[in-house]
Amino acid sequence: MNDCIFCKIAKGEIPADKVYEDKNCLAFLDITPINPGHVLLIPKEHYENLYDLPDEELKNLAPIIKKLAVAIKKGVNAEGINIGMNNERPAGQLVPHAHFHIMPRFSNDNLRHWPGKSYQEDESKQVAEQIKKFL
Ligand code: 5GP
Ligand code: ZN
Repeated sequence: MNDCIFCKIAKGEIPADKVYEDKNCLAFLDITPINPGHVLLIPKEHYENLYDLPDEELKNLAPIIKKLAVAIKKGVNAEGINIGMNNERPAGQLVPHAHFHIMPRFSNDNLRHWPGKSYQEDESKQVAEQIKKFL
């Protein structure tokens, strides 16, 4: 995509602090990290989000996510790692080029877990059935 910022980073048209690259993917530091060492992993091909990402691409990316998690943990002495992917605007996706966030965490970083809601009686069974219909 011509005006996609992550395509431009993948092509080297705009700079980024790269930490890993192979023929399929690129990993670089997020410009506004939740903590130093927050990495974004992208396929070099433009796909908008997880729904568009072919299974083959996902198979290539999965072990790299793990490799980056281990390297980030060691590299910045993280006490934990969050893996995230925002898909579509209501879920917080700002850049419409599929990407995984690999984020170092520290016990004193003051970031919160998302708030947990609760189900009404039997609601969880219905919700599980609704999802299973599409699998
Ligand atoms: P999203 O909200 O789409 O899941 O996350 C997009 C992420 O991309 C944000 O965390 C943002 O800081 C990062 N980002 C946006 N523009 C740039 C850029 O030009 N360079 C880098 N390295 N990161 C960027
Ligand atoms: Zn793109």
